[in-house]
Amino acid sequence: MKKPKLRELGEAVKAVVRGPATIKFPFEPYEAPEGFRGKPKYSEDDCIGCGACAEVCPSQCIALVDDTEAKPPVRRLAIHFDACIYCGQCELNCTTEKGVHLTTEYDLACFDRTACLETIEKELVLCEVCGAVVGCRDHLLWVAERLGAKRYANPTLVLLADGELGLVSGELHRDPDRPPDRSDTMRVLCPKCRRITVLREIWGV
Ligand code: SF4
Ligand code: SF4
Repeated sequence: MKKPKLRELGEAVKAVVRGPATIKFPFEPYEAPEGFRGKPKYSEDDCIGCGACAEVCPSQCIALVDDTEAKPPVRRLAIHFDACIYCGQCELNCTTEKGVHLTTEYDLACFDRTACLETIEKELVLCEVCGAVVGCRDHLLWVAERLGAKRYANPTLVLLADGELGLVSGELHRDPDRPPDRSDTMRVLCPKCRRITVLREIWGV
């Protein structure tokens, strides 16, 4: 039998003194170190529903569904963490930098894959003329806040931001069969309807 090398002997002595390096998970809880990339989690306060995380997700495990029939209409974002590769791109590219983050939660095994979901819902704003999705209310308010006084160049942002302050209330009745025109300027409009109202006002087309 060969004699053990000195280095191995040293390791053996250290192991006896320090105790075992292995952990007893799952029989005992274990806390992952800071910076560990575990289950992604949305923040209700900081997510604005922009959908950038779904765009950048390399495994396409973030589903984005706009439910315009719901009352109020909502955007649903769902991270299927059974297909997540925990790359952290969603957190890295989040518009607000705080809307989603990877927690240190790693014990995610489950029998039902449909339960492996992290979800968030955000209220949608629809165009008052054609009903198209303009964006999530929180997203539009976030943009308005950053623009400050410059938001007064955009009636949609003004109406939403001033509505939050209680300066605007209710919706003006509108004949749904009438095509958009100048009288629709002070309404919440999608880019397409906004363009039509502006072109009609300037060139009458
Ligand atoms: S705010 Fe961040 S977490 Fe929320 S939808 Fe946008 S990118 Fe995703
Ligand atoms: S960590 Fe990566 S794979 Fe998982 S949801 Fe975020 S972007 Fe997608």
